[in-house]
Amino acid sequence: LPSAYNEANRHYEKNSPEREELLSALQSLRGQLPKKVSSVINGQEVVSNGQTLETQMPSEQDTTFAQYSSVTSEQVSEAIESALAAKQAWQDMPFNDRAAIFLRAAELVSGKYRNELCAATMLGQGKNAWQAEIDAAAELADFFRFNVSWAEEIYDKQPTLHSPGQAGRTDWRPLEGFVYAVSPFNFTAIGGNLISVPAIMGNVVVWKPSPYNIYPSYLVHKILLEAGLPPNVIQFINGDAEMITETVYKHARFSALHFVGSSDVFRSLYAKSGEGIGKKLYKDFPRMVAETSGKNFHLVHPSADISNAVKHTIRASFEYAGQKCSACSRIYIPKSASEQFFREIKQELDHVIVGPPEQFENFTGPVIHKAAFEKITSAIDAANKDAQIETIYGGTYDGSEGLYITPTLYRAKTVDHHLFDRELFGPVLIAYVYEDAEFDSLLDKIDQQGGGFALTGAIFARDQAAVRKAENRLRYAAGNFYTNCKTTGAVIGQQSFGGSRSSGTNDKAGSMNLLMRFTSPRTLKEEF
Ligand code: GLU
Repeated sequence: LPSAYNEANRHYEKNSPEREELLSALQSLRGQLPKKVSSVINGQEVVSNGQTLETQMPSEQDTTFAQYSSVTSEQVSEAIESALAAKQAWQDMPFNDRAAIFLRAAELVSGKYRNELCAATMLGQGKNAWQAEIDAAAELADFFRFNVSWAEEIYDKQPTLHSPGQAGRTDWRPLEGFVYAVSPFNFTAIGGNLISVPAIMGNVVVWKPSPYNIYPSYLVHKILLEAGLPPNVIQFINGDAEMITETVYKHARFSALHFVGSSDVFRSLYAKSGEGIGKKLYKDFPRMVAETSGKNFHLVHPSADISNAVKHTIRASFEYAGQKCSACSRIYIPKSASEQFFREIKQELDHVIVGPPEQFENFTGPVIHKAAFEKITSAIDAANKDAQIETIYGGTYDGSEGLYITPTLYRAKTVDHHLFDRELFGPVLIAYVYEDAEFDSLLDKIDQQGGGFALTGAIFARDQAAVRKAENRLRYAAGNFYTNCKTTGAVIGQQSFGGSRSSGTNDKAGSMNLLMRFTSPRTLKEEF
């Protein structure tokens, strides 16, 4: 098979053909709003009798972006049975044929459908062109290509034991039942990963995307069908999340959950699987595989290049309005550098434009929906009144048209402020200024706080001894730990991604290990 590679990003320079093409895709999509999205069961678009639901554009609350109807519980059961009926043929298909489907899909993502995917991600999720490009074009294609190449490596791996008169093999069986994939709103690529990982290993999947990513996700499914995926291998279902989960979790052949979303939801899904296990409902112990929330940190050491730390912090905390699990939302700054840090970050933030996705001069956009806006802005209201908090930047918002929140930087007088523990999933960063000499004890504090999450973290330092010390003492504080660069932006094939503690099962998106989680290996030994 061809080697995997990272898709190059487009830059959308002014008057470039790339920008013109994207603009016309945006215009054409606007003309089609509200976009009606169907569930796709057994390759057929289904119109359900269920309730009609809709989502608004984050940048224009008056504009309905997508309309869809909830599947019924019977339709969920139908999707599961249809997937299971496809299972044998799919797992028997030679690996190279399965792989070819995903490699063709990567070509469709990076070629024919690139503008449509980016436009859908921009209008539906409020991303600007570059953020959409990184997500729905580059990362999505990267996941398909790299997952195929890791699968190839797994199938090539054989046990080490060979002795005269006997031979051994590993049969990388897919799981015996089906996989339930539940994907979040913030990355179109993540949905692509949640379904492609099990499917490449020969599993069948029932996929429920976030309603706030419903149209880009529909396109991903359509692309896979166009690339040759047998229609019933991945079932695309939408609607009432609780009802869908109830139906899935009742099925004896529920073999795995592949989830990205909030820790709270994952915790309840994990617990629910325990109930089924306790009742001996399932044939297998279903695998629980998830990447969830974070309260990620930047730690600035006195030896750091402060301007570099400022630039990375702005991107990590405020790009895509802070709506990345990996976003930096707490920062620790040494007293000796705090004046420079705050001065420079304020200067730079003055140039940051927040606005709708189609305006190319914008750095960042709105938050996803009203509930998110209300959660974040009520925390802002409380912080603005809090005597323990000094506003360094922002603290304002405007939800009159789109759901805009000014990048906000607060400084807490005490390191024990609750904002160091609370994930808001928005553009709000809390800072603590520490005495330079406190660096060592601060490491323990950083490890203990952060709401129990352990997804990403970064240290900014020139002093290598400080870097090593932080790496050792913060060993379990982050699944991805970076030096002199931001907590966001793991690149597939370069940095695998995932956290432990309350941030998930740390099976690492973008790694061979994740593919192995969706296998049930069989050891074969033969004597002759
Ligand atoms: N993988 C992304 C990053 O490294 C974050 C994905 C997420 O938000 O879940 O920034």
